[in-house]
Amino acid sequence: MEIMDKYKLGFSLDGFDPFTGYQMVPAHNGARDLVAKTDDVTGLIVVNDANKARIGNFRAQSTGAPLQVSDLGSLGRAARLPPRSEIRFTVFGSSPGFTFLTFKDEGGSLPTEGSFTISVKEVKRYKFFFAFLSDPLRKDVRGRIEPRFIMDKVRPIFEKQANVELEEFGHMRDVMVPHDIGNPIVPSKKVRGNMDVEDAIRFATGKELLDLVDFAVYPCWSVERNSGGSGTLGLTIDDGTQPVVFIELLAGGFDRYVHVIAHEIGHALHLHHSNRGLMFPTDASTSNFVAADEIEVLNPAP
Ligand SMILES: [Zn+2]
Repeated sequence: MEIMDKYKLGFSLDGFDPFTGYQMVPAHNGARDLVAKTDDVTGLIVVNDANKARIGNFRAQSTGAPLQVSDLGSLGRAARLPPRSEIRFTVFGSSPGFTFLTFKDEGGSLPTEGSFTISVKEVKRYKFFFAFLSDPLRKDVRGRIEPRFIMDKVRPIFEKQANVELEEFGHMRDVMVPHDIGNPIVPSKKVRGNMDVEDAIRFATGKELLDLVDFAVYPCWSVERNSGGSGTLGLTIDDGTQPVVFIELLAGGFDRYVHVIAHEIGHALHLHHSNRGLMFPTDASTSNFVAADEIEVLNPAP
């Protein structure tokens, strides 16, 4: 038997990683569904640590009809699944940490055996605020970027996949920087003496305020990593203090904005680029998939 790639069956992103065989499940009775497919013989599925998770709610994947499975006398710990079936079931999270589902064919000519990681997670909260930049030459982009609606779509990307809550701290702010910070804004560019654009923005925001959050998001007119660069839509500077995220006005649509902001927040929460999903380095991919190793960075095991 095997655990099927449920995204191919039309599930939405919820912390399942088909590439590594992994499912994030929220602790304290959070629930995630999986789909098992059995071969020509009965399949046996076992939760290794019943204090971390249990399984139940077995039904036929195609019809949703409840399925009688023999649960082997150990409530939610193990089940015997009928042959030649696709069975949907629920994993319920209990206490945080890792456990495994092990599964195997009972008999058959080529019995398969495997294991699947279940990572049970507490809620992890990160605080941030939005600050609209302006300088003596340029006004802010308020009204041209509407972060609230965008964040309504960004939050579930982190919550459903990693049990991470992004908590907005206070109201949206305006940060007026008393120096020409350029168009595009290049954070490493010097504005005066040793002070660079990023320093000037942090100073105008206030250290006390930045100390209260995990990262700050600055909607702005245009941003680039280097002078003379082009094409950057968002940029995150994560240099040891609170990461700062710059998001520029985009010509593109709403979904593209959601992806770009979620990608940059991924950087602010210490994710690196990846060859698939949310952290793909260009916007050639607009998938918001977060992989198992990334989930473990966003919301580390206790
Ligand atoms: Zn990036």
